[in-house]
Amino acid sequence: MQTLNNEIAEKIISKKIEKKEAMRIFDSLSETDKLQLISQIKSLTGITDVVNGNGATSNRLKPLDQRDLEEHHRAFIQKLITEYENFVPKSKANVPKNHFHFVDQRRNFHLIKEIKQLHFQITYEKAEGAYVHDIDGNKYIDISGDMGVNIFGHKAPVIVDAVKAALDRGIPLAGYSETIHKATKLISELTGHDRVLFTQSGTEAVMVATRIARAATNRKKIALFEGAYHGLSDVVMAMRDMQGNSLAAGPGMLQEFADQIIVLKYGDEESLDIIEAHADEIAGVLVEPVQSRHIYNKPVEFLRELRSITIEKDIPLIFDEMITGFRVSPKGAQGIFNITPDISTYGKIPGGGLPTGLVAGSQKYMDLIDGGTWEFDDDSMPKSKRVGMGGTHSQNPLKVASAYATMKEIKRQLRENEDNTNYYSETSDCMYCKLNTRTMRMVEELNQYFIEHNLPITIDFFGSLFRFRYVDSYWGITEALMFILMRMNGVETNIQGNCFLTTAHTDEDIRNVIDAVKKSLQMLMEEGFFYIAPTEELEEEVFVETPIAVQQNKTTHKETSVSNSQIQQLKDLLVKDLKRFNQ
Ligand code: PMP
Repeated sequence: MQTLNNEIAEKIISKKIEKKEAMRIFDSLSETDKLQLISQIKSLTGITDVVNGNGATSNRLKPLDQRDLEEHHRAFIQKLITEYENFVPKSKANVPKNHFHFVDQRRNFHLIKEIKQLHFQITYEKAEGAYVHDIDGNKYIDISGDMGVNIFGHKAPVIVDAVKAALDRGIPLAGYSETIHKATKLISELTGHDRVLFTQSGTEAVMVATRIARAATNRKKIALFEGAYHGLSDVVMAMRDMQGNSLAAGPGMLQEFADQIIVLKYGDEESLDIIEAHADEIAGVLVEPVQSRHIYNKPVEFLRELRSITIEKDIPLIFDEMITGFRVSPKGAQGIFNITPDISTYGKIPGGGLPTGLVAGSQKYMDLIDGGTWEFDDDSMPKSKRVGMGGTHSQNPLKVASAYATMKEIKRQLRENEDNTNYYSETSDCMYCKLNTRTMRMVEELNQYFIEHNLPITIDFFGSLFRFRYVDSYWGITEALMFILMRMNGVETNIQGNCFLTTAHTDEDIRNVIDAVKKSLQMLMEEGFFYIAPTEELEEEVFVETPIAVQQNKTTHKETSVSNSQIQQLKDLLVKDLKRFNQ
């Protein structure tokens, strides 16, 4: 049944079936299958039960869905297709010419049939500072942030010089480079963790961290939280049904792996109770402290309680700071929330643009990789058992040089005598204070604009990570068109959602980003891609956050029993306009 549910979920999300058909199928399922289907949709869309926080304002407008297009919308789309074709002709021509040999799942991400002529990746020619240039001669302000890798802008001279120098020295892989000693020491200093391991990717870092946890505790299960992403490894990929069971996350993934994962609700007190109750089986708790897909949810108190429980029960706590590490503060979210996990995984920014992952942690756990240190002049030997670890390119000198250059630059820009503890300080000159504050100002202005225009959009942010969120709707034609129009207005985003500012963005760039967002939305409003919702559709409120709210964000209790009304509520939320159909 799960495969069938996968297919149904996929059809509902990609809106390949009519509302009536979706409703009919849903109603024909057993209660268990309904719950599974809802879980699958939740997992695929990234919607969690913690949808929004306390309300700031209600929204009157709703984004148009592709199933509600009228003649004038279609005419606008047709005109846009012609304009876009003239704007990026070479990028578009690359698709039919080259897409057979080049396998890329990203190509079909968020594909909407009604505008598929607009759906293709841009071919870049080069990138420099805050900009990317495409092969058609267009220059864009890049807020895609290279999926979170980029903090100093493209081609930051300090990184380019270090990599060029490393390249000139050749790329020997078997021995060590001088740089790896300096790099691991500096990463230790910046993150506060005793010992540091380089891996080839973030996925691998998380995989190794869970292996350490299992080896340390001799327990099996990894507890993690709904809504997080921890990379591609089967060890951490599972979703949760409404009864709390873990399900294999998709084709090719085994239920046997999912059975070793406990998927819990993030920020929910009940999850803490479950961890306490199953402490004997839990090898490690893996957390993405601020989930990049749900940035508005920063359950600091919950994390503190989780830290206490995991200490008490001797369960290693792993923070996956792949995106937040060196982004919001050098340590990541843990630096802002003042919570120290046992093990942290990093990997985007520290690679400086080259592929890497890092596992950093206390000696007690990291010794499980190499057995711990020993001396030449006595009879000492590695003390602990060792988990399996390898990786041809884990210590590749090019990326280690890039990592060291990035770390040195971060340290330099932290400014030794500044207050480096308040990363949103308006007065401090440290790089995070400046970058985070500038992002906050930009977000504030845009959120204000959305409120003034009754737009159902809000931007969530954490440090210089931010994300546009269409409230009460999942990816539809209006959102897709907004990103196309932003590109035509000179701003490059990432279709996967996360956006970033870098230190290379000037005030003028930020102003231009703001203008591009406003201009794109203005056009969509004029062309009728937002409509005034009937009152009964106005169910949700927008949560516009501030760093202060972040600190005060409290854990909420959620109902756990599955009632009919809950199913109805989720059904309304997920298959978003079934309600209108019913009427
Ligand atoms: N953890 C988190 C929180 C991530 O965001 C990612 C990647 N976006 C990963 C792990 C996996 O990293 P990689 O893509 O380098 O394997």
